[in-house]
Amino acid sequence: MTNGIFTVPEPHNEPVLTYAPGSSERTRLKAELDRQYQQQIEIPLIIGGKEIRTGRTATAVSPHDHQHVLATYHLAGPTEIRMAIDAALQARSRWAALPWNERAAVFVRMAELITTKYRYILNAATMLNQSKNAFQAEVDASCEFADFLRFNVAFMEQIYRDQPRSSQNVWNRMEYRALEGFVYAVTPFNFTAIAGNLTTAPAMMGNTIVWKPAATAVLSGYYLMSLFREAGLPDGVINFIPADGIEAAQVALASPHLAGIHFTGSTTVFNALWATVAANIGTYKSYPRIVGETGGKDYIFVHPTASLPEVAVAIVRGSFEYQGQKCSASSRVYIPRSAWPVVQEDVVRMVKDLRMGDTRDFRNFINAVIDEKAFDRTMAYIGRAKESADVEVLVGGHGDKAVGYFIEPTVLVTSNPSSETMCEELFAPVVTVYVYDDDKVAETVTLLSETSPYALTGAIFAQDRFIIQELTHALADTAGNFYVNDKPTGAVVGQQPFGGARASGTNDKAGSYLNLVRWASPRTIKETFVAGTDHRYPFMDEA
Ligand code: NAD
Repeated sequence: MTNGIFTVPEPHNEPVLTYAPGSSERTRLKAELDRQYQQQIEIPLIIGGKEIRTGRTATAVSPHDHQHVLATYHLAGPTEIRMAIDAALQARSRWAALPWNERAAVFVRMAELITTKYRYILNAATMLNQSKNAFQAEVDASCEFADFLRFNVAFMEQIYRDQPRSSQNVWNRMEYRALEGFVYAVTPFNFTAIAGNLTTAPAMMGNTIVWKPAATAVLSGYYLMSLFREAGLPDGVINFIPADGIEAAQVALASPHLAGIHFTGSTTVFNALWATVAANIGTYKSYPRIVGETGGKDYIFVHPTASLPEVAVAIVRGSFEYQGQKCSASSRVYIPRSAWPVVQEDVVRMVKDLRMGDTRDFRNFINAVIDEKAFDRTMAYIGRAKESADVEVLVGGHGDKAVGYFIEPTVLVTSNPSSETMCEELFAPVVTVYVYDDDKVAETVTLLSETSPYALTGAIFAQDRFIIQELTHALADTAGNFYVNDKPTGAVVGQQPFGGARASGTNDKAGSYLNLVRWASPRTIKETFVAGTDHRYPFMDEA
């Protein structure tokens, strides 16, 4: 019985803990890191609440110490993927029919558990398996994920409150049904919060989910499943199936019950998923909702009027935090010739100050890239840049994969604004700088806009208010998240809803009602209180 019009708790952003020496959070996180590092767990599939072991296994390792095995996990094949679809379909009717405030309570409780009991568990798993330092893990696995949950329940309420007008004798209502079928969530390695959001956002709206996590983030994924269960999420609402991406997609996208895809990852993979849906379009019961946030080639544009001390910090933090493996990381910089000498000196000094190594050593700002494939691909880019006559390595440029997949933060300077690393997404600790002539602002802005197919994030640095306005207008189509005098990373849920356009995704803005509304299929209900009893209209009468 829901005899009340309920209001969810006022959302707030989770305060970020510092992990400074002497703090209690530092002691607790270190203890949890030791615990997880010393054990080797076995991770089953979780389908309909049941643990399933297929015997086909892979290992979860630490990228910064790749011989260190953290877990062995079981892999789903076509049979288990079909089981997960069935479990999701079976759970759907009860879950979708549960009053929304009851569903909301599960996710609010989840947020509270994240920021207490699960804070150190999720942060440590993210540090060990995804090679994030303590601060990056905190802002991701704890704060951002708790923020997603708290704000999303408020957005859910906002959506449900949006009701049509009624007229005399008529009551119009809008019911925001769950989609008919299951939602297929495919998550990337780089944010534990994204894995949490891609699964919970549709679940919150009454949908049930088949979740294929990234192979390189299975450890935090498994702990997310423990959290979901402890928060009271019923069995079968989110089903966890680590699997080969292509194989899993073949089975999931062939189901007539596919109601939606919630994806974050590379543009190539998203295009392949969309093409498969298009090829199967005649077989689905409903048109699947396709939501995908994809790649980026994010920029910093410095105007001659910029204040320079902030620019170097933006380049260093924006490009190298989490080894440049944020979709929003700056990877190309356009800077006027007059500004470059000062900024260059600051950038080199700061980059040389960045320590690199194991995440358990809190002095390290830089850790490893995610796996050998990422290491080899990045070193190949750096190798080609070194051979190019147009490019100079300003700082960094070396890598070593003997113990962990370590690549020095690298700044390349190019005289060719169309050189490979100015155009393609590397997803690595590499940024390329193009120095332009101060009198070529307009030409450089055009160049920037036309250089890359992506439009995710971008930042401008300028002091002149007219210039800020002109650049904001001129660069309107180049970024879904646009920053003025700040680095292009670090979007906060509830403050800067996130997503890009062009080849960067469908721009459904994670962490806003715009995303949640994609997971609802509204039904309009018109009720007439006293209906007509005569089929004739007045105009039909004789004069
Ligand atoms: P990825 O595309 O390699 O993998 C994403 C997911 O897709 C994983 O679960 C993976 O197993 C699966 N997958 C891989 N190949 C597949 C295939 N052929 N068919 C079906 N599924 C497949 O991406 P990643 O390396 O995990 O993450 C990095 C990418 O994600 C970057 O391009 C980055 O820009 C993007 N990203 C974007 C955002 C955003 O909000 N726009 C956020 C985070 C990451």
